[in-house]
Amino acid sequence: MKFLKCSEGAIPPSTGKRVAIVGAGPAGLGAAGVLRCKGHEVHVYDSLQEPGGMLIFAIPEYHVPKAGVRSGVQELVRAGVNFHMRTRVVGCSEPAPREGASVRLEDLVRDFDAVLVATGTWRSRRLEVPGEDLPGVYVALDWLFEFYQAQLGYRSMDEVPPLGRRVMVVGGGLTAVDAVEVPLRYLRDRFGIQKVYLSYRRTRNEAPMSVREFNRLIQQYGVEPLELTVPVRFSAGPEGRVASATLQRMRLESVPGDKRPHPVPVPGSEFGVEVDAVLVAAGELPSPPFQPGCLGIELNRDGTVKTDQKFRTTTRKVFAAGDVRHGASLYGLALKSGNDAAASIDEFLRTGSWS
Ligand SMILES: Cc1cc2nc3c(=O)[nH]c(=O)nc-3n(C[C@H](O)[C@H](O)[C@H](O)COP(=O)(O)OP(=O)(O)OC[C@H]3O[C@@H](n4cnc5c(N)ncnc54)[C@H](O)[C@@H]3O)c2cc1C
Repeated sequence: MKFLKCSEGAIPPSTGKRVAIVGAGPAGLGAAGVLRCKGHEVHVYDSLQEPGGMLIFAIPEYHVPKAGVRSGVQELVRAGVNFHMRTRVVGCSEPAPREGASVRLEDLVRDFDAVLVATGTWRSRRLEVPGEDLPGVYVALDWLFEFYQAQLGYRSMDEVPPLGRRVMVVGGGLTAVDAVEVPLRYLRDRFGIQKVYLSYRRTRNEAPMSVREFNRLIQQYGVEPLELTVPVRFSAGPEGRVASATLQRMRLESVPGDKRPHPVPVPGSEFGVEVDAVLVAAGELPSPPFQPGCLGIELNRDGTVKTDQKFRTTTRKVFAAGDVRHGASLYGLALKSGNDAAASIDEFLRTGSWS
């Protein structure tokens, strides 16, 4: 994957300007590839072991080959981009992590000429139902992350949270697809998986993953679809681990002005399904490296970082790009957002104008 926007030998002489990028996902890497080609000094900070963000730690190899991401990163390194990995950026009142290095956002804003926040959507929406914290009920993104950590050799496969014979996946987006497919492709025998249910509150026709993907999961893996259902409770077995999910049936109701019909609970329609593990993929939420208001950087109601069309936050020198700016999306959009933000940062560095 190409991040550098010029040839390695064509980096112009130094402008003397320094940019800090928080987050080494496609948005951060795309921005680094533009800014370095303008002659700026670029430092990328990321809490993970290697650059790539979700391209490395959330998307399966069969969708985005990791060798391609790594070769694009190597090109940035050769072009002089500085990577500070295993370094968490914490803003204002955020406590420093107990383990590993950290840098304060306030220090980056003070010490650099511009700062780009590109930290993605690493928080997940909860179902807010009883039993959600039982052993065996996992946030799908967190479970996938644990699996990739093991697959990439950063920890042992024995540390991947165990599934079991019957797995229920909850959700209808890209994460739900991977939560079905990754365990079946890589860990079916290890965990003895025999049955996968897919609970989705609308029908496959409305699913963000697309009807085609929904049907493929059924045809290719024998997934049992539970359309128009939502879990309302998880219950434990004698060992304290999740043993059943209680689902409620839904019906769809169209709401004026809304493209997708809304799911509405059908009273008295609850039924139980025996499960050994649940992977909840109810949507990812923005994860900026600070609490709202830190340094005057405002957030929108949905938790994304508030910016104008030039990717400028409400605080001078600080920009935002990628999923933390526009919400969970696709890596091509994040990459483009990083490229576009970098063009605005370059303009700011050249002109000094913030108006
Ligand atoms: C399970 C799953 C499957 C997906 N599959 C696809 C797919 O098939 N096709 C597709 O186009 N898109 C897919 N996506 C979406 C795609 O991965 C994202 O849209 C894209 O990665 C967003 O890029 P980003 O750079 O904004 O953020 P990210 O890729 O999330 O990168 C953000 C980086 O910031 C770092 N970071 C966060 N907080 C801090 C901090 N405080 N300090 C330091 N570093 C920090 C993170 O470690 C991470 O490396 C998928 C997403 C998920 C969750």
